[in-house]
Amino acid sequence: MSERTGLMIVNTGNGKGKTTAALGLAMRAVGTGLRVLMIQFIKGRWKTGEQVSAKNLGFELRPMGEGFTWITQDRERDIAKAEAAWEYGKTCMASGDYDLVIFDEMNIVLDYGYLALEDVLATLQNRPKDLHVALTGRRAKTEIIDLADLVTEMVAIKHPYKKGIKAQRGIEF
Ligand code: ATP
Ligand code: MG
Repeated sequence: MSERTGLMIVNTGNGKGKTTAALGLAMRAVGTGLRVLMIQFIKGRWKTGEQVSAKNLGFELRPMGEGFTWITQDRERDIAKAEAAWEYGKTCMASGDYDLVIFDEMNIVLDYGYLALEDVLATLQNRPKDLHVALTGRRAKTEIIDLADLVTEMVAIKHPYKKGIKAQRGIEF
């Protein structure tokens, strides 16, 4: 029945806005009745604005990480977390329960070698035809870019970090 074409969307680059744009996408999608899941590979330990908003807007947000690896300092644990998040995502993609699945910081996870690239590529390629997927994170792999339908690179022109301004609540998290 559905004539929808599932898109693979990638937000990459060094500039700020990759996760923000994915959250904007979730907000738009849920407003049209799409069932949205966002899996966050890295965020998890602290409470973010998007967790509250997801609840209010009615999309599912799963923070399944523990922070950045240079905070956790435990590669094995990071890998286990990434694998668990990916397995959950795979199940959800196959379930038919979602119309858009977002993997926040997937590019970073792949760049660190925490997940097998071949498995991720094959799974995304063989997903249900009408399922939209979105991946964020710096340093997207060439193979990911090749497979995607829509790729946007955020370019850093200015960032308050350079002036020593620390992360602002509601803007960064
Ligand atoms: P956001 O979640 O704000 O959309 P992002 O997803 O594009 O940012 P990440 O690569 O996930 O950015 O980086 C995580 C954090 O690093 C963000 O809080 C972001 O503001 C910060 N950041 C992004 N670009 C820079 C930069 N050029 N210099 C310093 N910090 C940065
Ligand atoms: Mg991000």
